[in-house]
Amino acid sequence: MEKILLADLSYEQLVSWVTGQGEPAFRATQLFEWIYRSLVSGFGAMANLPLSFRQKLADLATTQSLLPLEAVTSADGLTTKVLLQLPDGETMESVLMSYEGRQTVCVSSQVGCALGCPFCATGQSGFKRNLSAGEIVEQVLHFARQLQARDAAISNVVFMGMGEPLANYEATWQAIRILNDRRGFRLGARRFTISTVGLVPGIRRLAQEKLAVGLAVSLHAADNALRDRLVPVNRRYPLADLIAACQEYAQHTGRRVSFEYALIEGLNDGPRQARELGHLLRGLLCHLNLIPVNPTPGCTYRPSSRERVMAFRRELNRMGIANTVRLERGIDIQAGCGQLRSRF
Ligand code: SAH
Ligand code: SF4
Repeated sequence: MEKILLADLSYEQLVSWVTGQGEPAFRATQLFEWIYRSLVSGFGAMANLPLSFRQKLADLATTQSLLPLEAVTSADGLTTKVLLQLPDGETMESVLMSYEGRQTVCVSSQVGCALGCPFCATGQSGFKRNLSAGEIVEQVLHFARQLQARDAAISNVVFMGMGEPLANYEATWQAIRILNDRRGFRLGARRFTISTVGLVPGIRRLAQEKLAVGLAVSLHAADNALRDRLVPVNRRYPLADLIAACQEYAQHTGRRVSFEYALIEGLNDGPRQARELGHLLRGLLCHLNLIPVNPTPGCTYRPSSRERVMAFRRELNRMGIANTVRLERGIDIQAGCGQLRSRF
């Protein structure tokens, strides 16, 4: 019999599972605290649970369904990437980034991705399956347990690993609710960021949620013809619809939207494109992140030169668009989305 993955369950669902096992409801509170506060994974160590219940848990349930296959740390020691095996043998990646006093986990939401952005290693590998909420939550727990040994804790969770989180909306949102729960892990709504390729219905739905999480939108081009090539799903949700949904998100949540723009030499990094981008984003509550594209084996795109990046940025500064140039982190460990898995 397949074991139940406890990290799939919200607190309320855990209560009904525990009472369904003939145990009092407060055992669920204890269990939830062990898993999300003490970060204990083995039932044997859960001292305030009766031995009989611990044995039942060991027979029926698990808190650790992900098997780390390989971990690599960047030369500067600030980025660690792990390849995790799922119970069905599929693999996916998570990354921990430590900088500016923050401990950020970058989680995957799917094995592979169906949206086929040509520069993306995950997109190049095609779609396998959605992750469950627990499989997302456990990626965070994996690093939280490691940090605990160093007296540190996770401060941020970003959905920028493999897959498109808004194409796996239910599991993504359930994972956020579980990690946000005050009775357990208690990570504030503002500490989460969902990165999306721009699925408009998902953005609209997110705008209505009670928890206002951060939204990052992968833009990469400011005109539809070019974006159709770089982000094929643009054919379904063109720029005007996307920007309107982002406007709605900023209005409903009061949070500024981040836009990601991968600079590709000679393709989307000219002064004319910078001006088009400036016009597109003008008046929107937003921040723009410029990232020289990370080369992948399946794609010939090259990162823009430093000069072109700076010229692009000057144009945007002139137009008053708040922006940051992101230096690639952990490039020596191929921390780019989907790159460890494709090598493996
Ligand atoms: N599917 C979501 C989230 C995962 S990708 C999305 O597309 O937003 C996370 C980010 O990495 C996205 O902004 C994506 O465009 C970017 N990305 C993927 N491959 C990249 C590469 N080779 N170089 C630079 N950025 C890349
Ligand atoms: Fe999927 Fe995002 Fe990669 Fe595009 S960039 S293929 S949406 S994971």
